[in-house]
Amino acid sequence: MQKIYLARDFIEAERIREYLTARGVAVHLSDVFTHSLQAVNPMAFPSVWIGDDEHPGHVRVLIEDFLRQEYGQSALRMQWSCAVCGEINPAGFELCWHCGTAPAQE
Ligand SMILES: [Zn+2]
Repeated sequence: MQKIYLARDFIEAERIREYLTARGVAVHLSDVFTHSLQAVNPMAFPSVWIGDDEHPGHVRVLIEDFLRQEYGQSALRMQWSCAVCGEINPAGFELCWHCGTAPAQE
């Protein structure tokens, strides 16, 4: 299993699951029922996972298509991956919740 996306809430996670499933990607969600904890625990953001046999680059393109449809181009800049540990950080996080590293400047 590979974590591919950190959703802002469980509704978005579920919609991404439906979007990917309709395109032939096997998707698993975690933490969907703990979203009320996300204010105090960023690890409780619902995450979207794919199987090891899925191609993450292909799935990321699909998710970016979904986000562009949902929120417009700006959505793609809101979430960032940590350059040090590779963890996915939600919009608005100034430091990686996992290792405390600031995002790389673009
Ligand atoms: Zn990190």
